[in-house]
Amino acid sequence: MKFSCKNGILIPDQLSPSQEHSSDSLPISKIETLPQAPPMNLHYSYNKDLQQLLSGKQLLLDDIPFSLQDIQSHYENGYLSYRKSIMIEKNKYTCVRCGNQQKHLFAAFPCARCGENCVYCRKCIMMGRTSTCSPLISWRGPDIPIECNEPPLHWTGTLSTGQGLASKAVVEAVQNTKSLLVWAVCGAGKTEVLFNGINTALLEGKRVCLATPRTDVVLELSPRLKKVFPDIAVATLYGGSEDRHLYAPLTIATTHQLLRFYHAFDVVILDEVDAFPYSVEEALQYCVEQARKRVSSMIYLTATPDEKWRKECKKGKRSYVTIPARFHRYSLPVPRFVWCGNWQKPLNKGKLPANVHKWITERIHDNQQALLFFPRIELMEKVLPLLKTIHPKIETVHAEDPKRKEKVQAMRNKEIPILLTTTILERGVTFPKLDVAVIGAEDRIFTESALVQIAGRVGRSSDFPSGDITFFHYGKTDSMVKARRQILSMNKEARGRGLIDD
Ligand SMILES: [Zn+2]
Ligand SMILES: [Zn+2]
Repeated sequence: MKFSCKNGILIPDQLSPSQEHSSDSLPISKIETLPQAPPMNLHYSYNKDLQQLLSGKQLLLDDIPFSLQDIQSHYENGYLSYRKSIMIEKNKYTCVRCGNQQKHLFAAFPCARCGENCVYCRKCIMMGRTSTCSPLISWRGPDIPIECNEPPLHWTGTLSTGQGLASKAVVEAVQNTKSLLVWAVCGAGKTEVLFNGINTALLEGKRVCLATPRTDVVLELSPRLKKVFPDIAVATLYGGSEDRHLYAPLTIATTHQLLRFYHAFDVVILDEVDAFPYSVEEALQYCVEQARKRVSSMIYLTATPDEKWRKECKKGKRSYVTIPARFHRYSLPVPRFVWCGNWQKPLNKGKLPANVHKWITERIHDNQQALLFFPRIELMEKVLPLLKTIHPKIETVHAEDPKRKEKVQAMRNKEIPILLTTTILERGVTFPKLDVAVIGAEDRIFTESALVQIAGRVGRSSDFPSGDITFFHYGKTDSMVKARRQILSMNKEARGRGLIDD
């Protein structure tokens, strides 16, 4: 789309009288300085549906089911803004929506809308195409008030001592628009820790977003939050979800979905911060900054903050609170390191090192369910035939496995005795009575945080608070040592604070 600029007002070519199709109209990104949006006309009767759709958002024309005339009229009366979706500076491109600046992630296409070769961002293309001629459209009219007269939280559960302290810190961060890291061990019960904070925010008329990288987690959290906030609209957003246009005081979204938001939230809660590879962190930071209001609270949740964050915590540069103990007051199972020689050799021949083999047969014998983590898919596929001779119901699972969900469910139903898996099951899954082994724990894929998460699968239920966690290895790594140290230090802290009984 091309715009011309008349008297400080942007006019799309389609809406200017045809004889005036001026030669000076340009794709929005090529207009050097965009004029300031027109002042708000207080007598204008704006469209409330458009307000609902656009409040706190940054959308492309294709996402807005209103006519261009409607949109333009709201812009001219000061209720909408047009922004560039691609910035061009000295031939350098920046995608305003996702922050991408990498040259190879931009491409050009012959664009029917502007009749030029339009440059677009490939990085966020799955959310619709940002390009040199497509404006990002946001609401700048009055806010939609969030009215909440009674405490919206309906929850009768109780918090553990550790949860209680963390919950208080979250409430304070919400009230004082501060940033806070909640460092809670696997199985601490971090979701409950958010309830009071969300309650406080909603009572203050604030808009809250809980964002997490994985769709599975969104789908799990959404019904839990709807249950404890039964009278509040909750928008559940992930690729292909139906709530896309729902304006809600409480939003639960994958981090991807944050790209459509702009200065929307008073409180952003980011779950599983550690799940992002280092390279993604900056991009994520960018879209969180876009989605939150300039003055807002930021709550980070993780079981395994990276070293940089931990240093910042120690130096007092980052405010944080720890929950070093699980809600059931038993200590975290500590991994055992067991040398198993060059395991790749036997695995390539479809065999297992003798001690690994023994570990498995013992579990089958004792009727004890187990997860077996492998660094790569092809390795576990190679030993599967052998394991099937031990027990025909042993299975493998990995990210691209079409039967992934069914297999995890079968594991829950105790139909699978032992499940071989890649790191996809390192987090988010809970089986009540479980032993866990890692084969080749020295592999680079098993980072410190991955290993802490994997160990965190064991002993989660109060009926079975312990279990075996073994790292079979061919040479100890730093990550293995650090993972164990982290677990030991959390247990020590928990004991010191009187949060565990064993
Ligand atoms: Zn174009
Ligand atoms: Zn982009």
